[in-house]
Amino acid sequence: MPSFVINQKCDGCKGQDKTACMYICPNDLMVLDKERMKAYNRAPDMCWECYSCVKICPQQAVDVRGYADFVPLGASCVPMRGSDSIMWTIKFRNGTVKRFKFPIRTTPEGQAAPNGAFGAGDGSLKDQTLFTEPASLGCAVPMVKK
Ligand code: SF4
Ligand code: SF4
Repeated sequence: MPSFVINQKCDGCKGQDKTACMYICPNDLMVLDKERMKAYNRAPDMCWECYSCVKICPQQAVDVRGYADFVPLGASCVPMRGSDSIMWTIKFRNGTVKRFKFPIRTTPEGQAAPNGAFGAGDGSLKDQTLFTEPASLGCAVPMVKK
């Protein structure tokens, strides 16, 4: 089921140019109603339920209604993201609450090497290799000869 915004919690990311949910949505679905300062999902039928907006919202104002086999009616599954970990709070229908915390990064924030410590390729757009190839492959790249 698509994401939805809990209006009572959303503060419109305090009126910044681009809200956190707008920034993160891979499908460009979240928009901000600047009069109400509330975000909303403008095309719920296009939502992938990827949970990115749920995880990034600093106010925990976005939720996704999980499918019944994953989150039965009366239960909930709520993430809270930290700078180095994410905590999932699972509430079962009988009221039991369990929390699971997982690390989400292996390098300090802002220090991940975009090329994974491999050298970049030659950067040619006509090249058939990807950004860090051939270094990250550990072997020569076979090329089709024309
Ligand atoms: Fe509202 Fe959260 Fe979106 Fe910010 S990230 S605009 S608080 S729903
Ligand atoms: Fe976009 Fe994913 Fe949020 Fe759906 S769940 S609105 S696809 S970020």
